Amino acid sequence: MEKKGQEENVLYCEKCDSFVNYDIIRKREIYEIKNDKIEILSDVAKCANCGTELYDIKLEDNNLKRVYREYAKKHKLVLPEEIKEIREKYGLNQHLFARILGIGKATIQRYENGALPTKAYSDLIKSMKNPGEFQRKLEENKHNISKSEYETARTALSRVMRNQKEIAADEVLTELSDVLEVIHSNVFNFDKLLGTVAVIFSKIKEMNENFMYKTKLLKLLWFTERRFEKLFGRRLIGIKFAHGNYGPIPDKYPLLISYLEQAGVITVTLEEDEDGSAREKLFLKDNTFSKYLDEKEKNFIEKIVKRFGKMDTKRLSKETHKDELYKNTENGEIIEF
Ligand SMILES: [Zn+2]
Repeated sequence: MEKKGQEENVLYCEKCDSFVNYDIIRKREIYEIKNDKIEILSDVAKCANCGTELYDIKLEDNNLKRVYREYAKKHKLVLPEEIKEIREKYGLNQHLFARILGIGKATIQRYENGALPTKAYSDLIKSMKNPGEFQRKLEENKHNISKSEYETARTALSRVMRNQKEIAADEVLTELSDVLEVIHSNVFNFDKLLGTVAVIFSKIKEMNENFMYKTKLLKLLWFTERRFEKLFGRRLIGIKFAHGNYGPIPDKYPLLISYLEQAGVITVTLEEDEDGSAREKLFLKDNTFSKYLDEKEKNFIEKIVKRFGKMDTKRLSKETHKDELYKNTENGEIIEF
């Protein structure tokens, strides 16, 4: 190879049979991609001596990126900078983002560098703009990541949700309630949920407890729903419960907690244990939501809290295990009542 060829700014011209200087010109070109014709302004190298078009891999790479970009815009696929923006919104690196999505890290890398995503992956990545969807994916692919990575993502998610709330509280609420609406039964009543949680917390405060761990709230919701139904023959809220190892738990409960946080009834903080694991501590933020309940409902809930509110998690777990419906269901099964 001629020595000149190793220098920059020269390309090999077949016609001149040597390395030559070149000019870069812009021209309209039509590329065919996935049975679609995409026209772009491409950069092409031309031999400075004879004017022949020369192949340059870097220029061609950039041209292709432009083509992909136009194609993506036309077909409403996610754009490279959009992917990065979504990922960084949650403060995640490519590795962790890919794991949570359940796709390869190399794939995310290529997309962020301008490769054309498939429609399915594009839709998946786009859906992560919605914190509720992100949360769903996070729970689904929890097993792909370490505990500390999970907590990192959880914390980021809470932060994103808080930020979004400040920006557009109503929009997020609608999105989240859409998700919840699908998950929970038709009889699910959002106002009753907010009211119930507000009353539970107010009563807990009266009993000199400043906060509740998530587990306790979930248990108190179970006792409330189950006993209310036994007594009055109808559901107060309509939460779907599943058979968990330590008793009945609301199905997809992370969404429920997010919803409560979004709605502004509670605030959630993470308490780090010495072993690095974290527990969610819940605080009452606004007790005015109790207005959604009538006196009969309020009194009923207060009695429940008075009876079970002081018990520790172990004791509560034991109590729930006595329930016939719990005994007659398998792990993971929905408890119908
Ligand atoms: Zn030439």
